Amino acid sequence: LALALAAGWYLRGALAPARPQDTLSEAPLDGGDEAEGIDGTIDEPKTQPADADGPADPTLWSLMLANTQHPLPDGYVPPQLAEMDKEGRQLDARIAGPFREMVAAAEKDGCHLVLTSGYRSEERQKELYVQMLRDYLSMGYGAAGAWDATKSLRNIPGTSEHQTGLAADIVSAGYWTLDEGYADTAEAKWLVKHAAEYGFILRYPKDKTEITGTSYEPWHYRYVGVEDAKKIMARGITLEEYLGEA
Ligand code: ZN
Repeated sequence: LALALAAGWYLRGALAPARPQDTLSEAPLDGGDEAEGIDGTIDEPKTQPADADGPADPTLWSLMLANTQHPLPDGYVPPQLAEMDKEGRQLDARIAGPFREMVAAAEKDGCHLVLTSGYRSEERQKELYVQMLRDYLSMGYGAAGAWDATKSLRNIPGTSEHQTGLAADIVSAGYWTLDEGYADTAEAKWLVKHAAEYGFILRYPKDKTEITGTSYEPWHYRYVGVEDAKKIMARGITLEEYLGEA
């Protein structure tokens, strides 16, 4: 109730941003100690409570934003990395537990999730970027054309979410191709339904490319914490929209 009231107050506040859904009608203003003016308007509260729909603390490490508009601090490296498999794939150590729990839960439902890409260093991202740039140049693209083609497919070093250690490319044991067809696998469907329970969100949804700057990637999941993941997935929005950075 407190959260619903807070949302109501917030939406009535002058600073309330336009929201697609109608939270107002759900806010049970019970006429308690809210001061209601004679014209039916409600006085603004002295302190602005957090929006129940939004992040309780947008500065949390788990809500770190990395995209072309928000590059990471130069040379960012997660505080601690955890090795996730025999091939040495790594994730930020803080999300290793939730990731393993998610994989185990999926396994129980007959879905075999496989981590194909986790943490990627800025150096590695640079190598991949330069490699692709070279490939395009050798294919006969001019400098500008090669740059544009590379940029459309690869994140510029420092702007890849994989550098945060909080992103995981997850495929099905029976489907390793990173294409839209993956979305039809039982594993991809399981993730859409359950990932938020373990703190992960589908980071680059369909039809959100203009906001995220990245095309639809049904395999790319991002840890944001359980509470925030549930809100984001329930609202069907992106991390950018959630943080007001869209
Ligand atoms: Zn990815």
